[in-house]
Amino acid sequence: MERRGFIKKSSLLGISIGIPSSFSLNLKEPKTVIKNSPVVIATWDVKNATKKAWDFLKNGESSLDAIEQGCMIEEADENNQSVGKGGLPDSDGNVTLDACIMDSIGNCGSVVFLKNITHAISIARKIMEDTPHVMLAGEGAESFAYSLGYEKENLLTEKSKTNWLEWKKTSKYKPIINIENHDTIGMLAIDKNGDIAGGCTTSGLAYKMSGRVGDSPIIGSGLFIDNEVGGAVATGLGEEVVKTVGSFLVVELMKNGYSPQKACEEAIKRIVSKKNSNYKDFQVAYIAINKKGETGSYSIHKGFSMTKYNNDTNQNYESDYFNN
Ligand code: ASP
Repeated sequence: MERRGFIKKSSLLGISIGIPSSFSLNLKEPKTVIKNSPVVIATWDVKNATKKAWDFLKNGESSLDAIEQGCMIEEADENNQSVGKGGLPDSDGNVTLDACIMDSIGNCGSVVFLKNITHAISIARKIMEDTPHVMLAGEGAESFAYSLGYEKENLLTEKSKTNWLEWKKTSKYKPIINIENHDTIGMLAIDKNGDIAGGCTTSGLAYKMSGRVGDSPIIGSGLFIDNEVGGAVATGLGEEVVKTVGSFLVVELMKNGYSPQKACEEAIKRIVSKKNSNYKDFQVAYIAINKKGETGSYSIHKGFSMTKYNNDTNQNYESDYFNN
């Protein structure tokens, strides 16, 4: 059932959404065009992905289309062993993908534990647009993808299989900062109308326990957009991001007047300042953008970078970090 149809049915059934009468939604108001738009930013050095997104933005396409197309570049790149096809598998040798996407009017879609389909970001978008749900997992998500015409693919490349077999010799897993195989692509874009969208897609932690899901498909943790304020995405050890609802926190801080940079710094400090935090052993990073097109990024450790494409320039920036 289409989302719109479902909503219509809900209202026919008399289910009401509790909006106070003094509060009126006017989605048709003229949009403010942002001075610094269009712009796209992404976690890590992913210039091909940001270029693809930029080409869409430059042609006047929506930030949502730009996000999907940009993320798809990394998903299809078999050399990227932390996203999509070629991602490193879980401890059983299965590549399982997590992704989510969010548009400028607060819709979101998410897919978790998806096997055999490269473009998790597109499935997340379809969940958002074509179903009454936000999140589909595992076999249900895979069947949904087949119903859309996607074909079953083997996501475990020879290279990732070899790495996994090597890992199995010891089977010791301890996530350590970002040098250890986890680099979600998270992307945020503002289009020519000033509308913000975001997405993130990952194969999660390499050699994770079977069934493990990180922050990346969790709206508010791996990604959050508020079109009135800005957006944020996370990368790094998802468990730590989930525990602090990191991306929502960054956006909420911006809503309360923080710059994107200061908001990312504060969200990282929430993690590292926890009593008994073992932050020296893992990496987390955030990137953020506000409605003015200002951007920021911050990580726990050195080594994280953000790619930004605007004004026809595609650049990778080393981020500031907390711990030397
Ligand atoms: N955040 C992802 C996860 O925990 C991994 C990553 O960003 O590298 O699954």
